[in-house]
Amino acid sequence: MQATEYRSGIGWDIHPLVPGRALVLGGVRIPFELGLGGHSDADVLAHAITDALLGAAALGDIGEHFPDTDPRWKDADSLVLLRQAVELVAGRGFAVAHVDASLIMERPRLGPYREAMREKLAAALRVPAERVSLKFKTAEGLGPVGEGKAVEAMAVVTLVRGL
Ligand code: MG
Repeated sequence: MQATEYRSGIGWDIHPLVPGRALVLGGVRIPFELGLGGHSDADVLAHAITDALLGAAALGDIGEHFPDTDPRWKDADSLVLLRQAVELVAGRGFAVAHVDASLIMERPRLGPYREAMREKLAAALRVPAERVSLKFKTAEGLGPVGEGKAVEAMAVVTLVRGL
């Protein structure tokens, strides 16, 4: 029998807050006067998790698999990208053991949306929500995130193979 193998991957992303776009975080649409600019729906949290997932399996990065020059990903639901990345790592025999992510933005308050985001992300990752940790922080007014011009996300994904 194959020995159990654990792998960790790190992901980071940032997108600008702009008028005229929806704010979608962790697959959940959040009512706010600004949204995230980008080629897809610009779900910065889903992107950081996707990159961490690919990183844990050493399968490159999100830009390589889902280039922003590809019209298929124009305004795309980033959970579709995340599900495809899960498919890719599953093909190498890996399953998601745990995800821990931080979302950094000043406004709006995200607490009320935490459980909905965990559920959406967990479904895409094929794990129960208890394996998805989401933390919300502000940048204390510092830098572009602190000035409310951007949203940043970081994630660590742990994969397991051979259980
Ligand atoms: Mg991105």
